[in-house]
Amino acid sequence: MKTINVKASNEYDVIIGENLLSNVGSYLKDKFNVEKSVIITDDIVDSLYSQVIEKSLIENDIKVCKYVIEHGEQSKNGDNFLKICEFLAENHITKSDMVIALGGGVVGDLAGFVSACFLRGVKFIQIPTTILAQVDSSVGGKTAIDIKQGKNLVGAFYQPKLVICDYSTLSTLKPEIFTDGCAEVIKYAVIGNKDLFYHLMQYGKEFDLEYVISQCIKMKRDIVQQDEFDTGERQRLNLGHTIGHSIELLSDFSISHGSAVACGLAIVAKASYSNGLCTKETYNDIVTILEKFDLPTSCEYSAKQLVGPALSDKKRAGKSLNLVIPYEIGKSELLKIDINELQDFIEAGI
Ligand code: NAD
Repeated sequence: MKTINVKASNEYDVIIGENLLSNVGSYLKDKFNVEKSVIITDDIVDSLYSQVIEKSLIENDIKVCKYVIEHGEQSKNGDNFLKICEFLAENHITKSDMVIALGGGVVGDLAGFVSACFLRGVKFIQIPTTILAQVDSSVGGKTAIDIKQGKNLVGAFYQPKLVICDYSTLSTLKPEIFTDGCAEVIKYAVIGNKDLFYHLMQYGKEFDLEYVISQCIKMKRDIVQQDEFDTGERQRLNLGHTIGHSIELLSDFSISHGSAVACGLAIVAKASYSNGLCTKETYNDIVTILEKFDLPTSCEYSAKQLVGPALSDKKRAGKSLNLVIPYEIGKSELLKIDINELQDFIEAGI
């Protein structure tokens, strides 16, 4: 078991280990003296993991109620946001109580946003159960819901009080969801961790969960501590995401997030090589690792098609856009690209 401390606007621990769910009650009692809690989860995760947590809460004299959403991105919406707020009000949740976000990034983002807004902020913890949520979304305090104009357009920065990262829960994930989350793990390795990259290259999907998850969380911690509110350094976490988001949108979300990020990463790596920003070896290593994880490295869209949605990317600033460039394995930087040159740049990556 490992504990990583995050010093953001709120200081908190991320506990990483196996079979931690039966200790949730004692963590909440010992650390926060909680008397009442609400579990927010989705139907799939509920059927697998709520019971063990509820039992440990009750054993520690913590009252618990539960709100279950339907699984899937479509649930991260304003309607569920309001319904959960009303549920908290009906159950007389106050600032001394604890919201428990149990599930993947959808539950974490939605429950986190509810926690940020209800009573202008109630305490919440994250119990991430997907690889994506464990290495990325549960740490760093980005919370959000989707609206019809776009994903994550309404949200808040709101840090959890604790993250309990029990990687034994990953054993029940569908293989394609595990693979999808691995695109984010590879992203971390490429942006800033050569050792992690070669570990992943050596072991493929059989990687050491505790080592890999802790490495990713440490990187996220370091980045968030430098730039909690996403004005610079934190944008490096978007490697592959600008083009990835275009691919998701153009496919009407039939291409999963992880697959889209993988293609985005391969395209930006090839474009970087073609523009003399990285070596052919770096580009080849990136493609090889994506293939090793059964992730795609190309898509059917043209540079002209890909550039359209990229221009409305949240990270666009006036006439330029910050793209993350993999200069070497483990070394990446933001590069400001004029929007008039973006299409040519992407073209070189296709
Ligand atoms: P998800 O939450 O939809 O989970 C994927 C599927 O796996 C769901 O069907 C869920 O029910 C199921 N599942 C979850 N845990 C399981 C388990 N242990 N066993 C079996 N099934 C399980 O998707 P996700 O990929 O975890 O998260 C995607 C979301 O995360 C997106 O909404 C994205 O915007 C958000 N995100 C947020 C941040 C952030 O910093 N806040 C970062 C990256 C992504």
